[in-house]
Amino acid sequence: MLVSAAIDAGCAGVFGLLVGSFLNVVIYRLPLMLERQWAAECADLSGQPVEPGTPFNLVVPRSRCSHCGHQIRWYENIPVFSWLALRGKCSSCGKPIGLRYPVVELVTGALFLYAIYRWGATPAGLAWCGFAAAIVALALIDWDTTLLPDDITLPLLWAGLIGAALRWTAVPLTQAVWGAVAGYLSLWLIYQAFKLLTGKEGMGYGDFKLFAALGAWFGWQALVPIILMASVIGAIVGITLKMTGGLREGGQIPFGPFLAGAALTAMLFGPDSILHVIGL
Ligand SMILES: [Zn+2]
Repeated sequence: MLVSAAIDAGCAGVFGLLVGSFLNVVIYRLPLMLERQWAAECADLSGQPVEPGTPFNLVVPRSRCSHCGHQIRWYENIPVFSWLALRGKCSSCGKPIGLRYPVVELVTGALFLYAIYRWGATPAGLAWCGFAAAIVALALIDWDTTLLPDDITLPLLWAGLIGAALRWTAVPLTQAVWGAVAGYLSLWLIYQAFKLLTGKEGMGYGDFKLFAALGAWFGWQALVPIILMASVIGAIVGITLKMTGGLREGGQIPFGPFLAGAALTAMLFGPDSILHVIGL
């Protein structure tokens, strides 16, 4: 039994590396695809002719080096190993390939391995693999663009509710439903209060949807530990960036990556463990 469980987990880890490689594409391309879509919708609304343009989606065109346009060959696209073999440089122009690519692959691989090790090769294990993949993608897209695309947050929310209904997530369905409601409403209320007091927008609607999704996956009781952890770490990172001059233009720090970090902590160690970590 033990050996077969280890084999399952190992296979899941390898599959996770491949999914991580795909997530790198999603993280880079999905925001660009949305921008193109919005530009086309704006043009359409203002009555301008919409040019069809070259196809651009998660599959087409094939991946290229962002510096020289060199088309990545299949053997240059093997998760982690290709990056190591190329020593982190493009084979054509020698410019560096970000360390982030292999790190995303490794983190996704490790999360898949953990999910299948803990929940077995079951619907629950697969559900948590999907959860981890969505969270990794959301964290980095939000960090890069301050967007949390509906294309990921809304399916994640539904998956949490369906997972509870099918008893994949060990959260009773009522707690999942109230988790989704309370997750959305609590951040929405904070947003409105903050806007009323300061005239500024402190968060985006994507944050509400992501928090609602986390409520669905972990139940309403987990919302307080998750928001506490995300706020504390977000504040620490924000102050550090401010002091080191690492803030980007406009000084905005997206909240999604910190919600995502708390979500993965809750997945790995349980939502209650967060309260122990922050000393409550
Ligand atoms: Zn190149």
